[in-house]
Amino acid sequence: MRWSRTFIPTLKETPSDAEVASHRLMLRAGMLRKLSSGIYCHLPLGQRVIQKVERIVREELARIGAEELLLPVLHPAELWQETRRWDIYGPELMRLTDRHDRQFALGPTHEEVITDVVRGEVRSYRQLPLNLYQIQTKFRDEIRPRFGVLRSREFIMKDAYSFHADEASLGEAYDAYREAYSRIFARCGLDFRAVLADSGAIGGAVSEEFMVLASSGESEVLSCCSCGYAATSEKAAAGALASANAGAGGAQAGAVGEASGQRDGQRDLRRVDTPGKTSAAEVAEFLGVPVARTLKTLVYVADGTPVFVMVRGDREVNEAKLFGHLQAATVRLATPEEIRSETGGPLGFSGPVGLPGMPRILADPNLRGARGSVVGANAADAHLTGMDLERDVPQAEFVDLLQVAAGDPCPRCGASLESSRGIEVGQIFKLGDKYSKAMGATFLDESGAQRTLIMGCYGIGITRTVAAAIEQHHDERGIRWPPAIAPMQVEVVPLAARDPAPMRVGEELYEGLMERGWEVLLDDRDERPGVKFADADLIGIPFRLVVGERGLKNGMVELRADAGRGDAETLPVDGAVATLDARLRQAMGRA
Ligand code: ATP
Ligand code: MG
Repeated sequence: MRWSRTFIPTLKETPSDAEVASHRLMLRAGMLRKLSSGIYCHLPLGQRVIQKVERIVREELARIGAEELLLPVLHPAELWQETRRWDIYGPELMRLTDRHDRQFALGPTHEEVITDVVRGEVRSYRQLPLNLYQIQTKFRDEIRPRFGVLRSREFIMKDAYSFHADEASLGEAYDAYREAYSRIFARCGLDFRAVLADSGAIGGAVSEEFMVLASSGESEVLSCCSCGYAATSEKAAAGALASANAGAGGAQAGAVGEASGQRDGQRDLRRVDTPGKTSAAEVAEFLGVPVARTLKTLVYVADGTPVFVMVRGDREVNEAKLFGHLQAATVRLATPEEIRSETGGPLGFSGPVGLPGMPRILADPNLRGARGSVVGANAADAHLTGMDLERDVPQAEFVDLLQVAAGDPCPRCGASLESSRGIEVGQIFKLGDKYSKAMGATFLDESGAQRTLIMGCYGIGITRTVAAAIEQHHDERGIRWPPAIAPMQVEVVPLAARDPAPMRVGEELYEGLMERGWEVLLDDRDERPGVKFADADLIGIPFRLVVGERGLKNGMVELRADAGRGDAETLPVDGAVATLDARLRQAMGRA
């Protein structure tokens, strides 16, 4: 490629609306342009990187026996109605109506479509297992598209689906995908880890996410240095928290707990005035008790039915866990009007005691045995003290709904959990029969009995992976591509426009390297060295060969690795192609 004939519209200025490095650099390096919110055009340099990542994905999936196919983007609504996801997926599903008034979705993921294809073809266990994937544009009407292609509304995904006769076969495929993903992300030059994950809107019981470690990442990972446990904050569990009961070691016994003079915080329910105090912290301060001894009671509505959720006042509810537990089509917080009609009191004063109609109450297991607690009185400006959860709220079900935080004990070994940030580039799921059961996808087993197919699914965000690679490989001057996914491997930069010699030698090196099969960019523009170097630093091609007037007088050119940031190495012009060829083979892992 000759720069003068390429379409690489680099920018000197930093675009103002780009918040993270990868977004800024993709725009500045001329890889990307925004068309509309969360919708981007991938320019030639960007498309090259996408193709590099896709190629690695295809090679590694071929190794585990996956077959590539291509499914439609337009999905008839009826298919999504079979699994109820037409309703459950919510506004993220892009919907449209055709000229015959039929409803369609733009595919955000393809479980329904692939299950439809497979149920039409698979009859017997002899046809199993199946391992199929595609690389395709996906659509999700994200509530907050941001960070460029890290969270866009239209993006490229590799999505794979496997079909099995039994769990053991699914386990083999799942493990093979985990290995393949590790090889893919390692080849892309990423520092990543696989962590336990919530299966969210896709479903299933077992799931892991592949996280690229980056401070700009939107995902939080909680991990244990001691035993290696690692999970997303949506999934992470914790060991038992220190008790907050009055008189217990975990928190200081407060004035209210002791006021009645009873041991262990055991005392009667008492209604106290708490004018205008709605948050747990305000109530605790007002009553002079530790925040941990006040309990939050949140009111949710799951498919139209109220569900009360309780956690300690100093902690938050993990909605991913709640939604996963309830398995309802829709779950949301109740409105102030709904709270009033369900509890008799206003927002901010809800509590679990004496609710009409024995509603469902879910409590964090850390509240088991909670005594001397403070809860809302379901009346304006009032709380109850001295609550004993098991005594006063016998219908409470204990369910892990806790949002785990850094410092909480590891659920496996009890050491302190640490928090770090990551970008989710891939996720693998053991789906089980969630889709096949809903859609009647069955097969005949060896004994001739009809059974439901067992499924797995496995996604990689291709465009997000490109951006994640930049997040990990850049400096203030620009991108520093890992060689395996760089748009090209070598940039030849001839300097000094008046003297024709550097350009002539640059052309020779360019031709020589291309003959050896490398992708080369020749900066043949009539620009000052400063401009050429700044652009080269920005687009970050791994090897840079500079042909200058002065060096050429001694028959030498200059080579720098690491996207031009490496130390300069002077090479004789004559052997430069052969030397660089050897270096490239090494860098690209080709013998
Ligand atoms: P997130 O939690 O980030 O919204 P997700 O868990 O909903 O993602 P999956 O359904 O697991 O995403 O999709 C598989 C992969 O597709 C993700 O691991 C991610 O790499 C990519 N991906 C998902 N949503 C987006 C998006 N809006 N923009 C770019 N890539 C995305
Ligand atoms: Mg995911």
